Amino acid sequence: MAHKIAVLAGDGIGPEVTAEAVRVLKGVRDDLEFEEALVGGAAYDAVGRPLPDATLALCRASDAVLLGAVGGPKWDHVEPAELRPEVGALLPLRAELNLYANVRPAKTLRALLMASPLKGDRGLVDLVVMRELTGGIYFGRPRERRDQGNTAVDTCIYSRHEIERIAVRAFEIARQRRHEVVSVDKANVLETSRLWREVVDDVAKQHQDVKCSHMLVDNCAMQLIRDPQQFDVILTENMFGDILSDEASMITGSLGLLPSASLSEAKNGRVFGLYEPVHGSAPDIAGQGRANPIAAILSAAMLLKYSFQDNAGAQRIEDAVDAALTDGVRTADIFEKGTKLVTTSEMGEAIVRRLA
Ligand code: NAD
Repeated sequence: MAHKIAVLAGDGIGPEVTAEAVRVLKGVRDDLEFEEALVGGAAYDAVGRPLPDATLALCRASDAVLLGAVGGPKWDHVEPAELRPEVGALLPLRAELNLYANVRPAKTLRALLMASPLKGDRGLVDLVVMRELTGGIYFGRPRERRDQGNTAVDTCIYSRHEIERIAVRAFEIARQRRHEVVSVDKANVLETSRLWREVVDDVAKQHQDVKCSHMLVDNCAMQLIRDPQQFDVILTENMFGDILSDEASMITGSLGLLPSASLSEAKNGRVFGLYEPVHGSAPDIAGQGRANPIAAILSAAMLLKYSFQDNAGAQRIEDAVDAALTDGVRTADIFEKGTKLVTTSEMGEAIVRRLA
């Protein structure tokens, strides 16, 4: 039976890079069925809402979701703000689809080591940040201004259940990698962090084949620059993960290369997830064939790995990307002297040709 993938291309370079991701997926498997739906500014223009009901319904009826990017200057001043693409589409998508586990790999591609801001081989990282995405201080109540606006309150809340399910995910992913989890918190100060540590230790007992340790978030921020190769899977809460995943991804040097997955509970025995590049809609280069589709293509590889347990398919895509880069094929953002400059679709083609 065909698996259904919802394709939400979105705005700016979203449609350009997503088309290449779909092309690569078709090159690897012939049992996938793709259905497109509107999201973001494109949906707002068409039907007046950035996340139409039909789009959400399609996501729910699909086995996985492939997202491009949303937003752009055209919609930055839409009122009310809830109708703007980022607020009105991305946040509700995460909440409605219960996408509580954000997986952000940061892996340096050897051919692009030069782009890393870290010196020499130190920039050669291969780690995953597992960020809790639907709890913590970004969602806790009360959140308000008090005393005629002179005092502000945000609330950080975590329950055992929320910590447990993300921790289990992190240990499962570590099992597919180098079997190490570093859980990051601020347990010397925060009560939520002390609960976090307690629950992670409990989950670790059920995953004794995975090495588990704890690190304070300030130390982790430092260690990521000092010695990023020490990390395999970094497990952390929402806000710390927001910051650390950006820091970790910059070590690889290229925004156009970074994929991500946001995962929910298993559905029909399969992990349900939304897969998207880390970058935004890049309105400055949209429609010019200059966007790098690799982040979207590697997001498609994550889709195969996490939603369909197709590690071989994912590996084929990753190897093809590596091969294209090693052969000197480059979009404008990673171009250097002596390499071959190509367009977005030529990069997609080059990768498809190298699928083993
Ligand atoms: P951006 O990631 O879109 O662009 C930052 C810079 O990186 C730009 O110079 C852009 O040209 C370049 N860039 C990004 N992706 C690239 C690619 N694949 N290939 C080559 N170059 C690439 O971030 P921004 O400019 O801050 O945001 C633009 C819009 O995207 C905003 O409306 C923002 O809200 C939105 N955004 C959406 C998402 C999302 O959909 N998940 C994420 C971030 C930003």
